[in-house]
Amino acid sequence: MSKFIIHPLSKEVSVELKQTMRDRFGNEPKLEEAQSRRSICRRCLSRFNPGERRLLFKYRPFEKEGVFAEAGPIYIHESDCRPATEPLTEYPNEFRELPLLLRAYTDEDGQVDSQLIKHGDAESSIDRFFAKPEVAYIHLRDGESGCYYARIERA
Ligand SMILES: [Zn+2]
Repeated sequence: MSKFIIHPLSKEVSVELKQTMRDRFGNEPKLEEAQSRRSICRRCLSRFNPGERRLLFKYRPFEKEGVFAEAGPIYIHESDCRPATEPLTEYPNEFRELPLLLRAYTDEDGQVDSQLIKHGDAESSIDRFFAKPEVAYIHLRDGESGCYYARIERA
């Protein structure tokens, strides 16, 4: 059985963005309307529904600067939302039909391996990565754009 937790974007980052209307790189977030259910809100870890308003901004999902510590565009709901539990303790079923990627990192933020999730079966790839002692955490990312969704750790 899989023992892992999925961390959403922190409440702190979400609140700071909405209060200052600046991301941590100084950019003004862009307000958009979701057109499809193709993407996931990084704060509540639910898929956007068409017509939902969301903020696009730049985020670096690493604590330290480093060669693999890339920053990129992410979306959150404009309205205050929150995940079902924080952290999540199960992989959301509504993610299974999306093209998603798992990328494994060391505790020094070195990139170890990556794997496209096949047939929605994230758990087998997560288990395989966490069986390697050098893997400290995993990023859930978009399988086509590579954009960051969430951080997965051992429970
Ligand atoms: Zn949300």
